[in-house]
Amino acid sequence: MPKFATPKGTFDILPAYLCFENWHSSEAWHEVESTFIQEAQKAGFHRIQTPIFEQTELFYKSTGETTDIVGKEMYSFEDKSGRSMTLRPEGTPGTLRALVNCSAHQTANINKVFYSGPMFRYERPQKGRYRQFHQFGIELIGPKCPYMDIEVISIAWAAYQRLSLDRGVRLEVNSIGSTKERLNYRHALVEYFKSNQKALSADSLRRLETNPLRILDSKEEQDVELIASAPIIWNYLNTQSIDHFETLCTGLEACAIPYHKNPRMVRGLDYYNDTVFEWVSDDLGAKSSIGGGGRYDKLYHQLGGPDLQGVGFACGLERVIMSYLQQKNECQTDRKNAIIIAIGSHCHKRAMALAHALRAFGQKIEYYPIDHPKKIKNAMSWADTMGYRYALIFGEEELDNLQIQCKDLSSRTQFSCKLEPSIIYENIVEKSSNK
Ligand code: AMP
Repeated sequence: MPKFATPKGTFDILPAYLCFENWHSSEAWHEVESTFIQEAQKAGFHRIQTPIFEQTELFYKSTGETTDIVGKEMYSFEDKSGRSMTLRPEGTPGTLRALVNCSAHQTANINKVFYSGPMFRYERPQKGRYRQFHQFGIELIGPKCPYMDIEVISIAWAAYQRLSLDRGVRLEVNSIGSTKERLNYRHALVEYFKSNQKALSADSLRRLETNPLRILDSKEEQDVELIASAPIIWNYLNTQSIDHFETLCTGLEACAIPYHKNPRMVRGLDYYNDTVFEWVSDDLGAKSSIGGGGRYDKLYHQLGGPDLQGVGFACGLERVIMSYLQQKNECQTDRKNAIIIAIGSHCHKRAMALAHALRAFGQKIEYYPIDHPKKIKNAMSWADTMGYRYALIFGEEELDNLQIQCKDLSSRTQFSCKLEPSIIYENIVEKSSNK
């Protein structure tokens, strides 16, 4: 009987064959995470890794005191010297702190980095919402330019496309203008919601005092109708902000990235200005965000660096993996690769050598020795669970005849093949490879 459960809102990532739920599988994690990493690297981004805890003050100064993340969700603690520390609830503040600390701006005019790792928020756990979750993110620090925003969006889009999520997601974009424009808009919003405050939910009433723009994110039924008639930010933007937004939109069109303008999307973090964007998906039941980002032109300076602008994106890997596996199940993927089942110790040397030779062709080949023919059923069921296309069976008789038995686990047919790595590769393994 196990004695300890995982803490509420957390989970283990395990090999697929040990998982109750397929999105916990380390294979799926690797596939999805490496897709994002490769797309970032293709665009000249470099990996950065920062501590998972930082001084609490960093998040107050960047993410923002009035946000839900900082106000309600942080895992903060005092260390043994009485300093307040916080498990990072998001990746941008630590990443920018690290770039400022190493004076990245003195080495390069444009710094492009990506990160991937756990984040922590004390939220009510539910499907797609965890207390320890994982984000892949990219940050681009350099001069303010709408094409930098497009660059960041296009990297994320390329990854979603490779994972076949492009049809199930919707990219929403908006401009929230400069601080001054947002302040004017905020006044108009407060006025509007105050005159309707009896109809507001309790949460939105609280936000009216602390962070009125966040009311626009409310999914409460009673707020939704009010929000639909609320003033929109576009009427408060100056020409410069409108130009930036229009260039962004035409640039997205030039890259054939589908998008929808949503004037009521604001995103919950304090540091954003101008461009904000979010990918929403219906795959996880209720409409939920599977990634998003925006421009932050003051943050680098606020953290002690020179006046450099930036733009970033982050996605929750849990939600992406769930959507990806859902799509994959619907498309029923093919079986791949092969397993060599060697029966009896006298076959093991030859079988091992065969596995080694086939792997040299770049194939994934699992070597699976058993000591008795009775165990073959067990080995075949393992091959099935692992999704192998072929089981190459190798026993005493096969060794004598210099043959192997090949079971095609897709068609459930069986045939024999000469025990010669290049012939086996050409006839069997190559057809079922991952390439
Ligand atoms: P945010 O940092 O709030 O902009 O979130 C960026 C992305 O992280 C979202 O689009 C989600 O995919 C993901 N995310 C945020 N909070 C959680 C959570 N508690 N559990 C799982 N994923 C999350």
